Amino acid sequence: MKRLSDIGTIKEILGRHGFSFSKGLGQNFLVNPSVCPRMAELSGADEGVGVIEIGPGIGVLTQELCELADKVVAIEIDKRLIPVLAETLGEYDNLKVINRDVMELDLNRLIDEEFPGMKVVVCANLPYYITSPVIMKLLEDKLPIESITVMVQKEAAQRICAGVGTRQCGAVTAAVNFYSRPELLFNVSAGSFMPAPKVDSAVIRLDVYSEPVYRVSDEKKFFAVVKAAFAQRRKTILNSISSSLGLEKQTVNELLLECNIDPRLRAEKLSMDDFVNIAERISI
Ligand code: SAM
Repeated sequence: MKRLSDIGTIKEILGRHGFSFSKGLGQNFLVNPSVCPRMAELSGADEGVGVIEIGPGIGVLTQELCELADKVVAIEIDKRLIPVLAETLGEYDNLKVINRDVMELDLNRLIDEEFPGMKVVVCANLPYYITSPVIMKLLEDKLPIESITVMVQKEAAQRICAGVGTRQCGAVTAAVNFYSRPELLFNVSAGSFMPAPKVDSAVIRLDVYSEPVYRVSDEKKFFAVVKAAFAQRRKTILNSISSSLGLEKQTVNELLLECNIDPRLRAEKLSMDDFVNIAERISI
């Protein structure tokens, strides 16, 4: 079957369907033929594996995934792309396209119904306007998945993959590290997309822990602490946590000292264990 990721082919198909890109839906389609095969391969798509793709567009990455995996379920919000996908990928009997907003789907149920007994991975060129919410949904829903391989803006990739306790880390770094081991796989230039976005991108893979590595009695509290600590990242953790959570400074000071944490540090200096310790002792 003809590979889709050739720019002439893509333009011809989109032109014939009178398709115009929606900026609001983050539609920047991949037109660099070397990216999708590499991404699909590194996602773990293979025999015996089921893949969830978010936002197939016209199907450039989907095609590579269908070639490698036993089954692919692609979730696309834009109904104008459904007839396009029927034309571009109609030959693949291991593909199911679902016309829905991924944020509204019960993905645990989808996995139960579509991939019984299969190893499951997620692979997607994510729409940038919901990168973090999608990643956090995939992790917080505690899906029985092995990994999440996604294209995101380069800056987001660097922040997610920065180690906790380094200058570049943020609340999202700690949140992602709670559930998975992130890795930056490769960078992709802005010119690899149509239309070209203003910034470069990168592909990252999150290897999801099958058992929790950090044990907390209340996950919501843990995430509230992380968010509060990074809310005013230029301030000390004492000031950021107390003002963001509306707590007495003296109480927070004592609590941090009990955890052997210097209250004058900034959030970027704390480790995952520090956040866990604070969350276990704080009352909010
Ligand atoms: N996979 C294609 C590619 O690499 O060329 C398209 C990627 S494009 C960056 C993002 C895709 O996600 C678009 O097709 C867009 O319509 C779709 N999308 C945007 N928001 C979505 C949502 N909430 N749920 C599902 N798909 C969504």
